[in-house]
Amino acid sequence: MNASIMHKAFGISLQECLDMRCESNKIVLNIQTPSDKLCCPECGSHNVVRNGFTARRFVSVPIGCSKTFVEMKIQRVKCSDCGCIKNEDVDFAKGKRRHTTAFANMVIDLSRFATIQDIAWFLDVSWDMVRNIQMEFLQKEYGSPDLSNLRYISIDEFATHKGQVYKTIVVDLETGRIVFVGDGNGKASLEEFWNKLGDRKNDIKAVCTDLSSAYTGAVTANLPNASLVVDHFHVVKLMNERIDQLRRQLWHAEKDVNKRKVIKGTRWILLRNGNDIFDAKYKTRLDNVLNLNEPLMIAYYLKEDLREIWNQTNKDDAELVLNEWVRQAMDSKIQPLVKMAATLRAYKPYILAWYDYPISNGPTEGINNKIKVLKRQMYGFRNDEFFTLKLYALHDKRLRI
Ligand SMILES: [Zn+2]
Repeated sequence: MNASIMHKAFGISLQECLDMRCESNKIVLNIQTPSDKLCCPECGSHNVVRNGFTARRFVSVPIGCSKTFVEMKIQRVKCSDCGCIKNEDVDFAKGKRRHTTAFANMVIDLSRFATIQDIAWFLDVSWDMVRNIQMEFLQKEYGSPDLSNLRYISIDEFATHKGQVYKTIVVDLETGRIVFVGDGNGKASLEEFWNKLGDRKNDIKAVCTDLSSAYTGAVTANLPNASLVVDHFHVVKLMNERIDQLRRQLWHAEKDVNKRKVIKGTRWILLRNGNDIFDAKYKTRLDNVLNLNEPLMIAYYLKEDLREIWNQTNKDDAELVLNEWVRQAMDSKIQPLVKMAATLRAYKPYILAWYDYPISNGPTEGINNKIKVLKRQMYGFRNDEFFTLKLYALHDKRLRI
């Protein structure tokens, strides 16, 4: 076979093809290093003599739809210059891999739009071989994420496919990349991250977290110079949880069956952003449930008011709005609202810090959706390292997730 075809199609440039044969529905290329190119792997001298061989077979890129192998007698050479006796170098495959580098590249290309299972089926190789090729690629590209130039980061958690097991992710808010994955969702989950950061801690200007005291505590302890911003989506989400809690309490306490019916099934309307409800039918339902129940009405309007904290033109005004909100919620003496007020008071500086650095976990929303898809794909798949590497590579278009 023409040397240029050998190089372009199979990634083999040093060896020549002695013959090509069919073995049932497979194609086998028999290749060999020509004598004049045989050299010592230690010193590069061509002054070598053959000293036995090992026959090896590599999975190659297919020819058409036929699975193709490259077969080669790897020569053991004795060097007359340096005296070593070693196997000749094979440059079209790595180490002890049973496939060529060209084949690995093809697997990575296919990974853009096909799953491991699809690729394994299409190329007629084992699932493990495809997984290992992807793993090697991921390790090389994403084994140690770049932590330099981190300025704005977010810290968030998600439950893994193993149920109540959590992982913590740190996202670079400027690039949208996951730069760290830690086990668990407590303070300890971030220890390794702080260690890896080292002096680069000083580059970080602001950090966005949810309302977890583990995260806020860890950030203030490890990044004393950075501003901590509590993610406002998480604050709104917590308020929604409180209002739903109240709705359920009221439903249980309500003895009148008809009134119970009005409360039931209003969760969605209560939690919707009030300005988004245009439909008269829903407006009426909302009014009915609110008129029926004073605590729910107070809670609902406080929920609507909460957003005003982030709608002010400056931090001082926002503080006034927040203080007023806390006062009203405390005065209501409605337990879930009092609890919410206590939370707002505790996190006040971090909520208002949004006016210094208007960052949120919003950009990580897309990441969370991709993680969901990844979790489904990796269901029942126990390789934690592979999962972590896939998280680091979430933004990489070269790999389908
Ligand atoms: Zn030598």
